[in-house]
Amino acid sequence: MTASRSDLAGSGARDPAGAWGKSTLRHLLTETDRFLTVVELVPSRGLVTDEGGRRVLALGRALAENPRIDGLSLTDNPGGGAMLAADTLGTDLLARGQEVIIHLACKDWNRNALQSRGWKLSSEGFDNVLAMSGDYPISGYHGAASPVFDIDSVGLLQMLSDMNAGLLPGPSGELRERTDFFLGAVVTNHKPHEREVIPQYLKLKRKIECGAAFAINQIGYHARKDDELLRWLSLNDLQVPVVANVYVLSAKAARFFQAGKVPGVVVTDELLALAEQQEASPDRGRSFFLELAAKQIAIARGLGFRGAYIGGHLVATDYDEILERADTYEPGDWRSLIRDVRFPQADEFHYFEEDTETGRSSDEVNREYARTRARASGRRPFRGSVAYSFNRFMHGAMFEPSGRLHRIVRAVYRRADTRPTGERLLHGMERVTKGVLFDCHDCGDCSLPEIAYLCPESQCVKNQRNGPCGGTRDSICEIGEKECIWARAYERLKAQGKEETMLDGPAVIQDNALRGTSAWSNALLDRDHRAQRAAPPKAAPEEDVA
Ligand code: SF4
Repeated sequence: MTASRSDLAGSGARDPAGAWGKSTLRHLLTETDRFLTVVELVPSRGLVTDEGGRRVLALGRALAENPRIDGLSLTDNPGGGAMLAADTLGTDLLARGQEVIIHLACKDWNRNALQSRGWKLSSEGFDNVLAMSGDYPISGYHGAASPVFDIDSVGLLQMLSDMNAGLLPGPSGELRERTDFFLGAVVTNHKPHEREVIPQYLKLKRKIECGAAFAINQIGYHARKDDELLRWLSLNDLQVPVVANVYVLSAKAARFFQAGKVPGVVVTDELLALAEQQEASPDRGRSFFLELAAKQIAIARGLGFRGAYIGGHLVATDYDEILERADTYEPGDWRSLIRDVRFPQADEFHYFEEDTETGRSSDEVNREYARTRARASGRRPFRGSVAYSFNRFMHGAMFEPSGRLHRIVRAVYRRADTRPTGERLLHGMERVTKGVLFDCHDCGDCSLPEIAYLCPESQCVKNQRNGPCGGTRDSICEIGEKECIWARAYERLKAQGKEETMLDGPAVIQDNALRGTSAWSNALLDRDHRAQRAAPPKAAPEEDVA
């Protein structure tokens, strides 16, 4: 049985505000309507006894003593570099009765390491996990580290949900004991283009379907976008509590963000100019930036977010000052503050029309977007890219059970499966065809039909198979100059009115055992992820027992 903190304290059933002090985030977010305060702490590089480590630990301990701080959120190697593991600080803070959120990213860990880490975290009493794909590794010992991305944030959420449900069989087939994670997801809603915004929303929906019980949005400084996120969730009947990101800027941080140094985070020229103007003031803008954060919190509360997620290079007393400033606003003041947190990107897409009176979103869906959708829906099947239409037609004919060629193609592959020469011949033909058409890397578990015939292995540095990560800038990948495959897939699918369902369905989790084998054969003979998704999880092999 997983040892929760209440069990360790000998109190039996979990008391949400029990002997360990603060109420659990799960209780606060799911059983109360209280507006929470969560603080993000970034572990330092080096030992916890180093100067940086001691500083972060001291800050965490001070915040653990602060009754206004409901949770401390510990990052996992942000920015793609190595930091002290979150668990080191987390264990200390947990013992002080502090609710802790552990970030779990897929960039440095494969699924087995993540599963093992999940059991470790749960055994040690960490319930709150923020699952994410993570930033691409850009540094490391003697050069950059290899990226892992064996699974992505959606796959991780599904795996942790299965662990919660006890659905991971052990070596003898018996079900594992359940973990008790309260799972969170990240959404990067401050994107400028329709082809980025809608896939982000759809991916959030998929994350919720795979077990995310709360969400935190990425850093951004445009209240209308935050309003839009909540409206979109409500429109789609997705009832998860969302905590608003409030990153306390400085001119230095604004320059860093504006230069694109943090994937997915944008500070506009206008906001940078304001930050640099404030930098010239006697307090170097401190009061201005704390007030801006206080306004963001007041707005978040007014819009219906369930809490504020405060980040930034701050000292312990700064948090109190921000919260006290936020408290000075009267309940209705947030409406007038919206115009103070309004830093849109050029030609920014919005899902809803603006309510020009308030600067918020209205309930009316963006008219231009609705018009282009209506034009696309019901289109002829060959509308849009000819290559895409042809691939889709061929896929339907060969691989869909209702396809005209399906039975015969399946029979050919079934026969070839028992004859090595035939199998090699067909696989060779597939490799040549898909190599030329899709730059196929022969992973054996093909996701082309799910990404509008764009290969995630060769064209996505993070091999994202369940929707886009949040790292793009103007639709361009956070690494290199390529346009994000998911933005391209969105455009291809929208031409046929199919973009809104592009991320429907269970999580795609690639089977690495199929690498170097024929993906066509694996699809036709029910060995790839599509067939696996319908089947119960496999037991671990017996040799694992040793
Ligand atoms: S089989 Fe794998 S590598 Fe080849 S196109 Fe499909 S997803 Fe890409």
